[in-house]
Amino acid sequence: MNGLDQFPRRCWAEIDLAALERNLNAIKNALPPRIRYIAVVKADAYGHGMHQTVARLMQAGIDMYGVANVAEAATIREIGGSGWSILILGATLREEAQFLFEYDLIPTLSSVEEVRFLDDLAEKRDANLRVHIKVDTGMGRLGIWHEDADELFEAMRTAKRLKLDGIYTHFSHAETDVEFTERQRRRFMTAITRVNWINPAELLIHADNSAGLTSFSRESAYNAVRIGLLQFGITPYAQSLFAKVPTNPIFSFKTRISLVKRLPAGTEVSYGRTCRLKRESRVAILCAGYGDGIPRSLSNKGFALIQGKRCPYLGRVTMDQTIIDVTDLEVSPQAGDEACLIGFQDGGEIKVEQFARWAGTISWEILCSITKRVPRIYKTSIATG
Ligand SMILES: *Cc1c(COP(=O)(O)O)cnc(C)c1O
Repeated sequence: MNGLDQFPRRCWAEIDLAALERNLNAIKNALPPRIRYIAVVKADAYGHGMHQTVARLMQAGIDMYGVANVAEAATIREIGGSGWSILILGATLREEAQFLFEYDLIPTLSSVEEVRFLDDLAEKRDANLRVHIKVDTGMGRLGIWHEDADELFEAMRTAKRLKLDGIYTHFSHAETDVEFTERQRRRFMTAITRVNWINPAELLIHADNSAGLTSFSRESAYNAVRIGLLQFGITPYAQSLFAKVPTNPIFSFKTRISLVKRLPAGTEVSYGRTCRLKRESRVAILCAGYGDGIPRSLSNKGFALIQGKRCPYLGRVTMDQTIIDVTDLEVSPQAGDEACLIGFQDGGEIKVEQFARWAGTISWEILCSITKRVPRIYKTSIATG
């Protein structure tokens, strides 16, 4: 990896690729066999590491990759996936367009201008290009607004060098608002039904992200899903199909204790004097802080596992160190002991979703915020069970 490998680890992430594969199989088994699986691996595979995640998924039976941009897609090609379909979920900037051809990528188109620009470019290069059209059914981000979709499909029909390969939409609130999601589904289907020159069965029709599976209908016209978070075993929403898919966490975040000491009652711990000890305390200093991806918003709110028990954060999380209260542990921990920030330890567990809730954010952001300083260590046993 880098020249730092020779040094003992102070803070690291462990990633279980066999569990990733089991999760993928569990999700696929929960869906009808005809449904194609688009594995979303943007943002360094949600912080799990693009190379290892993509390589494992290549053997594990996915149908397509979804990434944010051409640079991420090029990484997949470099890993050796020349035969794989790669959908770019973001809009493609004009300066990026040449790479769609060079790396054989599928862009997402939201406007007539994008269709015309890419069709002209394809013509100039004497090449063809597969594309997906995105319909905005209520997210207000990419995609053509559903009521305006006809003009985009018409431009697509007359494009000479572009081949329509798929149509999709994205949900804004699938995890909790089934009613609004149903409205989005209806808008999507209405927009597609108006296009009389396509045969939806020959295209990829997709809408569902992890949360969308909550209201996924087996009889629907969809023939693909786009799954990110759930394949990493994170199930943030209790009332949903999430709960019925037996996935497991694959990610843990660990550090070490560098010092254990006694502090008298009344001591104000860490920067800003936000935490005053009510009793004489035993504190442990962890070798990780916001420079590693422990959000500063966890100051005075988070917990770390020591000996499998939850020990509260004291005061502000600092760049390289976090202070925790270990007074209540029967046996004092020692400098060098492992502390678990996310994951399992001795019968205790801190889930990513719990960690995120303490920090006032979402699991997606936590995973994306584990920094480069944190080496990712992979477990690569074969998937069983
Ligand atoms: C990130 C993303 C997904 C995956 O979402 P999860 O909630 O992580 O499953 C699906 N579709 C689009 C357009 C995305 O940007």
